[in-house]
Amino acid sequence: MPPKIAILGAGPAGLTIASLLHKNNVPFTIYDLRTAPSSDLLSLPSGSLDLHEESGLLALEACGLTSAYQKLPGVCTEETLITGKDGILKYQDDGHGGTRPEVPRNDLLHLLLSSLPSLVNWEHKLLSCTASDGKWTVTFQGRDPATFDLVIGADGAWSRVRSAVTDVHPHFSGISYIGMTIPHLPRYPDLNRLVGTGSFWALGSNKAIMTHRGSLDSVHFYLMIQSASTAYFEEKNLDPRDRQALGQQLLTKPEFFADWAPILKEMIRVACEDNHDPVCDVEMKPLYMFNPGQRWDHVQGVTLVGDAAHLMTPFAGEGVNLAMLDSLELANNIITTYKDKGGEGMDDAVKAYEEKMFSRTEKKMKKTLRNQKILFADDAVEAIVRMFNSFGQPAPPAN
Ligand SMILES: Cc1cc2nc3c(=O)[nH]c(=O)nc-3n(C[C@H](O)[C@H](O)[C@H](O)COP(=O)(O)OP(=O)(O)OC[C@H]3O[C@@H](n4cnc5c(N)ncnc54)[C@H](O)[C@@H]3O)c2cc1C
Repeated sequence: MPPKIAILGAGPAGLTIASLLHKNNVPFTIYDLRTAPSSDLLSLPSGSLDLHEESGLLALEACGLTSAYQKLPGVCTEETLITGKDGILKYQDDGHGGTRPEVPRNDLLHLLLSSLPSLVNWEHKLLSCTASDGKWTVTFQGRDPATFDLVIGADGAWSRVRSAVTDVHPHFSGISYIGMTIPHLPRYPDLNRLVGTGSFWALGSNKAIMTHRGSLDSVHFYLMIQSASTAYFEEKNLDPRDRQALGQQLLTKPEFFADWAPILKEMIRVACEDNHDPVCDVEMKPLYMFNPGQRWDHVQGVTLVGDAAHLMTPFAGEGVNLAMLDSLELANNIITTYKDKGGEGMDDAVKAYEEKMFSRTEKKMKKTLRNQKILFADDAVEAIVRMFNSFGQPAPPAN
């Protein structure tokens, strides 16, 4: 009997591996704790992701989704603009002629889901994953348990599957963020001009404003703040549900953005104080990570992909790319074993995936950590501009 396979989690990692197994007629069952996302939900603005040729785009190609990806409306170009907290432009490039517009997270999920008609078992919250008699039993909240030969944990930062392979959990990175959206940004011509058509960063005082353009002509942005503890925002009485009060605190308190340039503060004011249609949630969270080099000893019949395997902060733009590459490589190993040997030797195939993934990921985690240190250092703007200049010849700033 070929092995029974479960995929836990329907984020980018879980959906990529599901898409590839489905395309190659390898049976599996996929679960996610969320309710099925409606098309209305998936059309709301969301953060943009930069898919890389050698990872995210490679995985999309293997899923047969390249042409659908290319047809997505390019809402966020590869332009990069960087200012200090004074709002004065220090760096500008148009993406060096790049041809891979960033993709909103919701569009990516929509795309991957389109390759898996009705296959996801939504509203299945995994509680535990335990071994018995050479198999793995997964239990869910309010649902029947199920037993599998191979469990693939694609259940993100706080993976429950992870407990089956290691007791190392993510730790706080020292950075917390507030995510906000302004739909229909051209209503604010100065802000529209400031953030441009792609990505915009304003850096200073161990903080960053990082924006992306998104659907509905929106700008989605993160206020990234170096903080001593995961409870920092609560300690400062910041409440994402009370936008007016939140805006007041962010704009007037010296530890936040009180002394930032008026145009940068205007972005926060507009997001917090003006009426928007649709109203987009404010998100407030600490960022967690693993240390580079973390790994686990292989455990028969269970493995991890994506953030569950190697959570890192977003400062090298690698998380989603590595997640999709993990899934591509693991899927290839599973498909080969399935087709050539009827599933015999599956565990060696999984082990081979893990070894390659550990060494590939360690390098990206180090790069992420290095970028994080630079972005939140006292000389962040100068150091980041130096780094970007070292990638190629940028256009001179326009002002
Ligand atoms: C603020 C922010 C900005 C980011 N920006 C970028 C960027 O620009 N570029 C980039 O490459 N990466 C970025 N990332 C990282 C990127 O989002 C992740 O690396 C990527 O989403 C990982 O995909 P995943 O499928 O492994 O995990 P997730 O996207 O977290 O998906 C996990 C899935 O598992 C499900 N799940 C969780 N627990 C359970 C459970 N108990 N039972 C059942 N299902 C469960 C969840 O509902 C979810 O659908 C960013 C992350 C953050 C927080």
